[in-house]
Formats: sequence, C-alpha cells, structure tokens
Amino acid sequence: MSTASSIAPIVQTGDPVLRSRATEVPVEKIHTPELQALIATMVATMREAPGVGLAAPQIGIPWRLIVLEDRADLVKKLSAGEQKERERTPFSTRVVVNPVMRILSDEKVTFFEGCLSVKGFVAMVDRHREVEVTGLDEHGEPQSFHAVGWPARIFQHEIDHLDGTLYIDRMLTRSFATQEQSQALFAGKSIAEIREMLGV
Ligand code: ZN
Repeated sequence: MSTASSIAPIVQTGDPVLRSRATEVPVEKIHTPELQALIATMVATMREAPGVGLAAPQIGIPWRLIVLEDRADLVKKLSAGEQKERERTPFSTRVVVNPVMRILSDEKVTFFEGCLSVKGFVAMVDRHREVEVTGLDEHGEPQSFHAVGWPARIFQHEIDHLDGTLYIDRMLTRSFATQEQSQALFAGKSIAEIREMLGV
C-alpha cells in the first residue's frame, strides 16, 4: 500500500451526512486496505486543515470512526494562561473505531470551539470536563482514554459528529461569531470577561 495519503474535501454544514447517525464499523473491516486508507486520509486531512479532530462523516463516510491529535505547534498559539485555563496540552495521534463515551463528572466548562464543517465560525459551548472513551484502535485492539479538559472537549465534539450533532446545536447562541470577530474582540480575555461582555 502506498504511504502517500490523500486529502479529502471536508463536508460543510447542511450536508445530510452530518445530520445522520453513523454506522458501527464491522470489526473484520479494520484490517482491510480500504479502512486503513480511510484512516490515513482522515489523519492527513485533519493535519492539513489544520484541526485537532475529524470524524468520518466530515469527509462523507457515515462510519463510527474518529481521529484526534493536538500538536505542540497548535497549542503554542495560545498564551500560557490560555493553555492553563483550557487545560490544553499536546497529545499524539489517536484513532478510535466505534468510540463509546462515559461522562465521569457533572462538572462542565465553557470555551469557544469551532468545527471544520462550519468553516469560519466559533461559539462558546459547555462541555463535560472529564470523560472516558473506549473503542478499538487502528489494529482492532481495545483501548480506553481518560480525558480531562481540552482533550475531553475534542472527544465530545467528535463523538457528537457520529450521532449527527454539531456544536451549533449546543452553543450559547449569542456567542456565535466569525473567527475574525472573535479574535478581534476576545483575544487575551478570560472566559468570565467574555461572558460578561456577551451577557451569557
Ligand atoms: Zn466538528
């Protein structure tokens, strides 16, 4: 199999594939060249975007499969204070087939997030601070992640995609903004300050 990975176009909101429940990946499919190529394409597409996660429906494939990665060069775009407030730390590539999430704490945290399928916009979304995700890896082996803070947010966002849910269904609607507006108005401010500005 070629090591060159292709980049897939990212489906934008409005496409029915983003609003449907994705199907479980049959375990016997995981080792097939077709699925391995799909995983490679998803990782390459996520990196190229660049993004911190991608779900298969976002490239038009209605399967329960997500990839996640938070690279140091992306995290470094935030100030040390912002990294700490978001509990955002780099982590290496994760591939999760048929992920199942369990919420570990009632505590919720609110930050801006965006989506490669709602290009150009961001909004504040409440997410559980701590979750556990189990599923299979790219070799079909069981795996489990305990995620706190930003990685927990990414898992919740990506697993939502598998159930036809977008962050715009959960956002604080008054915070919805273009990336440019959000950058111009809110950069360097704490979430408490931003909430006060927006009245949310
Ligand atoms: Zn998304």
